[in-house]
Amino acid sequence: EDIDYKKSQKFADHMQAKTDAVSDFALKRTVQQQRQFLPIFAIRQDLLNIIRENNIIVCVGETGSGKTTQMTQYLHESGYTERGMIGCTQPRRVAAMSVAKRVSEEMNCKLGEEVGYAIRFEDCTSEKTIIKYMTDGILLRESLTEPDLDHYSAVIMDEAHERSLNTDVLFGLLREVVARRQDLKLIVTSATMDAEKFSDFFGNVPIFIIPGRTFPVDTLFSKNVVEDYVDAAVKQTMQIHLGGGDERLADLDGAKPLSVLPIYSQLPSDLQAKIFQKAPDGIRKCIVATNIAETSLTVDGIIYVVDSGYCKLKVFNPRIGMDALQVYPVSQANANQRMGRAGRTGPGQCFRLYTERNYREELLKTNVPEIQRTNLANVVLLLKSLGVQDLLQFHFMDPPPQDNLMNSMYQLWILGALDNTGVLTTLGRQMVEFPLDPALSKMLISSVEMGCSTEILIIVSMLSVPSIFFRPKGKEEESDAKREKFQVPESDHLTFLNVYIQWKKNGYSTNWCNDHYVHGKAMRKVREVRQQLKDIMDTQKLDVRSCGTNWDTVRKCVCAAYFHQAARLKGIGEYVNLRTGMPCHLHPTSALFGCGFTPDYIVYHELVMTTKEYMQCVTCVDGQWLAELGPMFFSIKDSIKSRGERRRKEDNEKLTMEEEMRIAEEKFKRIKEE
Ligand code: ADP
Ligand code: MG
Repeated sequence: EDIDYKKSQKFADHMQAKTDAVSDFALKRTVQQQRQFLPIFAIRQDLLNIIRENNIIVCVGETGSGKTTQMTQYLHESGYTERGMIGCTQPRRVAAMSVAKRVSEEMNCKLGEEVGYAIRFEDCTSEKTIIKYMTDGILLRESLTEPDLDHYSAVIMDEAHERSLNTDVLFGLLREVVARRQDLKLIVTSATMDAEKFSDFFGNVPIFIIPGRTFPVDTLFSKNVVEDYVDAAVKQTMQIHLGGGDERLADLDGAKPLSVLPIYSQLPSDLQAKIFQKAPDGIRKCIVATNIAETSLTVDGIIYVVDSGYCKLKVFNPRIGMDALQVYPVSQANANQRMGRAGRTGPGQCFRLYTERNYREELLKTNVPEIQRTNLANVVLLLKSLGVQDLLQFHFMDPPPQDNLMNSMYQLWILGALDNTGVLTTLGRQMVEFPLDPALSKMLISSVEMGCSTEILIIVSMLSVPSIFFRPKGKEEESDAKREKFQVPESDHLTFLNVYIQWKKNGYSTNWCNDHYVHGKAMRKVREVRQQLKDIMDTQKLDVRSCGTNWDTVRKCVCAAYFHQAARLKGIGEYVNLRTGMPCHLHPTSALFGCGFTPDYIVYHELVMTTKEYMQCVTCVDGQWLAELGPMFFSIKDSIKSRGERRRKEDNEKLTMEEEMRIAEEKFKRIKEE
């Protein structure tokens, strides 16, 4: 059996190499022809004219018309790159990378040279770069050091209709930049329905429409409400594959092979690239995607779309006082984008796994922009350091709810990044330098004084990379056993530290990773992230010093940044959040889970909501530390005080702080007016 498997694997690899070579050849030969076939090519000159005549335009076009890949090249071809780079922002990392790669191929250059990309912790650009794709977060950070974006001659804000938090902040900032810099071109691309609003926001700028080329899509709704959308999606897909009819589901044995490929933002990039490769002859491709494939990425030749009707959104949850990634119904706008994917190269069909009534009566028309639903701590920190004192006055297209803003300011105040008057502290200023969440930056900076920055630097880097461990099917027990060997019973953070130290001891070996069910690629990324954060620490003159084996210091340092996310033991494996009183649970993968050791107090990195509220990445702390490091919440005698009393105290403090900030802002306004 073993040999057979290897043989067939070899055969598959051989076939894959062959098809890759063929499509590579086809690509090289016809890449210019392919470019000319895109809808945008027909209006190339009109587009360039309108850009020449206006500083800002809004550009609308069907997905797949060539906006993302062509506009940058057109601007380059007509000389804009002689004055500066062309920047193109994407709300998603995958899109930035994949599109940059595509454009580098079209321009026949090496990725990272003339055409490059930058995402957090990964800068694939060089001196030579003239076209730069990046996440909107990167451009936002660049504006910190270069408020006028002098390196750019044109900025394309792509996928603006996605209304990511960073895009919305950039809107406000770029409006000002263009007013100051007459030589900067700003192009905002958007889906149809938002175009007017965007145009208004930038002062009634022209809307340019790229005529699309789409085919009709036959849309079918589910007749009944679907119970389990995963199950329904699989069934629907199999029915399409087998050519309809329930009864056929029984004889899956005789079915033709299907190439099933996932695409989501955390997927390693070599696997992501697979969705664009041609499937071997006679094999159909089925792509299982998050909303990344809704507009950001275009895969040609899609005929069927199965729409679950759901997406994952990061939403501020007032009950737990922070963001949680949760599954929500899509909006009508999302649903229509999804449907449109089936009609790109020919007529298609879209199967919606919800009823027509659901669609009409329950789905929102458009998405709620991220700025109105998530934590704004990072944005507040950034804007404050850009000198925007009065956030309530900042020109947001859709201002965030004042409560959200105040909550985020409160969080920053707790961490010591803002003072009582809402002004950035020295600590806050240092925090802005790191491309991390405020609590992580705070942890890193605190570790310097506490003398454990070597260790915390590693822990923060480990936390910035998804999934360190893997657990292959059929090898669950073996991989769990290996994982347990790393576990430090009082802390998941220390467990991470331990993994890194062991890896380093073994010469950063990939074989070691494989032997221990640790993702080699993820670990190499951790090492890169560590180096980048260390560079920032060096320029900030923050010492990197080790506490040796005194790991209690490390735990205390974690506590210094996460005391606002603390929980107290209630029953076996059961905790209650100290601030909200909400029950929360240890995750089964935690080092503290079932290890026989049940600490009274813990802090956690984040909450995830699945079947229960789980705390992820947990460290045991001393009750004393909580009182010492988070005096605004906890006092030593806390245990005898009722929770209600504490809540009232906390609310009072929050009120006082908010009041003080308001007064400060009023004062500031008066000074400005005078
Ligand atoms: P838009 O931004 O208008 O949605 P794009 O510029 O992203 O359109 O895509 C235009 C065309 O370029 C697509 O239809 C597809 O054929 C091709 N394309 C884009 N990205 C890739 C890629 N990574 N690999 C192969 N082809 C791609
Ligand atoms: Mg695009």
